[in-house]
Amino acid sequence: MDDYPQHVPWYSRSLDFEQLARDYPPPPDFFRERARISRDELRALQEKRFLATVKRGGEIPFFRRHWAKAGLEAGDIRGLDDLAKIPPYTVHDIRESIERNPPFGDFMGLTPEDGQRMPLVLQTSGGTTGLPRPMLYAPQDRETMAILGGRRFALHGIRPGDLVLVTYALGLSNGGMAPREALWRYTGAVPVMTGSGATTPTRRQLELIQAWKVNVILGFPAYLRHMALVARDEMGIDVRTLGVRLIGTHLGMEDRESLEALWGAPCHDMYGTHESGMMGAECRHRTGMHVQEDAFILEIADPETGAILPDGEKGTTYITTLYKWGAPQIRFNVNDISAYATGECPCGCTFRRLRRIFGRNDNMVKLRGVNVFPEAVGAVVAEDARTNGEYFCVVERVGEAGTDEMTVMVEVREAAADREALRADLERRMKEVLGVRVTVSLHDKGALDRHTGTSQTSKVKRLLDRRK
Ligand SMILES: [Zn+2]
Repeated sequence: MDDYPQHVPWYSRSLDFEQLARDYPPPPDFFRERARISRDELRALQEKRFLATVKRGGEIPFFRRHWAKAGLEAGDIRGLDDLAKIPPYTVHDIRESIERNPPFGDFMGLTPEDGQRMPLVLQTSGGTTGLPRPMLYAPQDRETMAILGGRRFALHGIRPGDLVLVTYALGLSNGGMAPREALWRYTGAVPVMTGSGATTPTRRQLELIQAWKVNVILGFPAYLRHMALVARDEMGIDVRTLGVRLIGTHLGMEDRESLEALWGAPCHDMYGTHESGMMGAECRHRTGMHVQEDAFILEIADPETGAILPDGEKGTTYITTLYKWGAPQIRFNVNDISAYATGECPCGCTFRRLRRIFGRNDNMVKLRGVNVFPEAVGAVVAEDARTNGEYFCVVERVGEAGTDEMTVMVEVREAAADREALRADLERRMKEVLGVRVTVSLHDKGALDRHTGTSQTSKVKRLLDRRK
């Protein structure tokens, strides 16, 4: 062992945990102090953290290069009033950074070799095409993420001693990993890490809920719906009798009411990404997702002009992290369409709220001049109790004229249902909601799984654009 390194960076010595808890109070302190911070105090705190973040950005080649193109350097940014001067970037710029400096890019201020001086965590984006995008987390970044996740779960109403089933993927993505760290370290609740249906079959997940009296579930709406139907159709169990008292999910445009009716439990929305961590979460009043504004600045911008929009108006989301040292995000245009809620939340938390995520700007399909989000299609499908909520959209160019057509494939709930009436009703309703005519085709339960991957993956596919 003579050749073993003299130093190994122990996690327990890599951080001042008490200082971190003062900087980013976890629950219950969060509710007593930070959640009630005045807007003036918050602004001052954001200002300080923003300037530290910009200074750190100035040390990272990706930001130096990106800012230089706009004739800007870190020292030109004197405070939050200068935020709008900083040019936003998208995932395409991050991909370019990776191609330019493979395999990790130069958008992070860290490489795996830094593991010699600090313990690092590596997770990735969901990544549907090509290699997933890597993200390295320094100790303070990862631990703060766990605190922000802990606040999320406490806001939802998860309490010490709860048993929480985590049905997000366990693997390269943060899906299951980040909630485990947050629950275990900062909530007193006990995570039950089943992962998606590919890791633990859905029937076994349901057996565990029943046998262990799991009382909270985290998962994507499509999988939660799938789970409830497997329980009913294959096991003769009504999931409302299982004692699940709350659900944490990323709702997007999915229909909250039908999911709550299926489970007999309230569903709480949240918003996070692997680059940024847990940004927003609904409290028990479910009036929109409180943005953790001591750790983030989220701006809603006009997708065309980049102008920052007033509360209530929909636009694309720019993320600036205020807590990340290893790989900060500074005006990252994530292309998620959202809007700030207006008015106050009865819970008393002063953090502003995002209404919901209305869709992906780059997932948006232009259909005969109309912008269509697959998520909006899903909301119409979920509204109709004759379907099981499963759907898949195919867009193609047809005929000699080359007209763009969308076919929405939908799974029906009962084999005996009057399919013709259902098809006509769905087409009419979609025309109303989407503002453009689409064709609906009906399919038996489970038939769309090979397109969507609902029973296997936690990142479900909803769209195939054959025009590309
Ligand atoms: Zn609230």
